[in-house]
Amino acid sequence: MIDDLKAQIAALRARTAPLEPGLEEREALAQRALAHAQAFLEAIPDAPSRQPAADVFLHRLEPEFPDAGRDPAAVLDYLGTCVEAPGFATTSPRFMAYIPGGGVFHAAIGDFLAAVSNKYSGFASAAPGATRLENATAAWLAEAIGYPTGAAGTLTSGGSIANLSAVVAAREARDPDGGGAVYATRFAHHCVDKALHIAGRARAPRRTVATDERHRMSPAALEQALAADQAAGIRPWLVIASAGTVDTGAVDPLSDIAGICRRFGAWFHVDGAYGGLFALCDEGRERLRGLSLADSVVVDPHKTLFLPYGTGAVLLREGQHLLDAFSASADYIRPLGDFDVGPSPADLSPELTRHFRALRLWLPLQLAGVDAFRAAQSEKLALARYFHARLSMLAGFDAGPPPDLSVVAFRFLPEKGDADAFNERLLHAVQEEGRVMLSGTRIDGRFTLRCAIVSFRTHIEHVDEAIDALARGVSRLQAP
Ligand SMILES: *Cc1c(COP(=O)(O)O)cnc(C)c1O
Repeated sequence: MIDDLKAQIAALRARTAPLEPGLEEREALAQRALAHAQAFLEAIPDAPSRQPAADVFLHRLEPEFPDAGRDPAAVLDYLGTCVEAPGFATTSPRFMAYIPGGGVFHAAIGDFLAAVSNKYSGFASAAPGATRLENATAAWLAEAIGYPTGAAGTLTSGGSIANLSAVVAAREARDPDGGGAVYATRFAHHCVDKALHIAGRARAPRRTVATDERHRMSPAALEQALAADQAAGIRPWLVIASAGTVDTGAVDPLSDIAGICRRFGAWFHVDGAYGGLFALCDEGRERLRGLSLADSVVVDPHKTLFLPYGTGAVLLREGQHLLDAFSASADYIRPLGDFDVGPSPADLSPELTRHFRALRLWLPLQLAGVDAFRAAQSEKLALARYFHARLSMLAGFDAGPPPDLSVVAFRFLPEKGDADAFNERLLHAVQEEGRVMLSGTRIDGRFTLRCAIVSFRTHIEHVDEAIDALARGVSRLQAP
């Protein structure tokens, strides 16, 4: 019986061989993948910023999930044609739609190494070095936004989960039994609604705070709303401000809001998924004054630190609040000793087993150095002002107010006809060309174009191209 079993086990083992390629096969595979990646990267400067969705079906792998492994060349060809090409080229320097970031190469190496070593970064006991990196990276982010020691944070999959984590921490700290009211402007990101919903606060009293002519939260309106609720016996719970709205990049007056929150005992949360990390550079820090007074801040390294998608962060001024919200173990309340690497990521987030995320941020900071990131951010802020100045000189455009950060929201004002329809056609014309990718939004019902200069690859010639594409689009649409 044992012999039969042994024979059976040996046969099964032989079939598992493809799971552990040998040295030479690994080398060949890695070389192929690297060559593929290099070709992709080399094509970026001239590749379109958008390619037809229909290309997804140019080829098929039949059957898609084969019993025996297939030739890596066929797989990489398929990926190149049907996966990497179609849709938006978020790696393009001419991609200035939504909130781009680009995706620095070092982060891909970080992901590769993290996956190879497969360290269990959820727990300090399992991976002390990885956990130290997670905490050191979060501490660096906290320091970048001006938080004092005692702050803590954790890397998430993105800004949405980071906002959810902050809302849960705010709930545990200030609204455990419910009933507290929530305040935000109409420019708050929709993930905040999702977060409140998941956190069981979808039915919390909600107040939409008025904004000024530059789409920033009005402190007077906020104060009025909080006072009215307090007078009516409703407890002000959570104020959600924006450090860079997606629509226009507007930064709410954070210092004023912090003072008001303090007076009313409300939790002050800042969604800085797009703009918060501009605090790394001098100009950005100036514009984000008051950010460090927030109880919680969300930032998105996959936007303003140019990482590939998959990394957001939630930061708490008093780190204990994050532990209180998410720790499942009781032994976390201890001072950091010499050999202590800080709290386990599993005690700071809803996740247990997770990707070793810190490496994709830590490695680029090591290899490229912090100054390159700081300079890229300053460059983006300057390029946005440059775009705004050039657009202001183009006949027919309303460039809107100068940008707070690196998003410019603007419109073309046709002499006759429907301005909304014209701007929608203009956006379509620019997008169809496939050179420069911009996006649009509706602000108070008016269709508005957006140019978001965030990618580390976007430089002045690309911004010039965007101006040219808009000018071309207008003349084409106005041609008799
Ligand atoms: C991008 C963004 C989010 C959502 O973050 P994800 O990383 O896409 O989940 C939330 N708020 C703002 C202001 C953003 O720019």
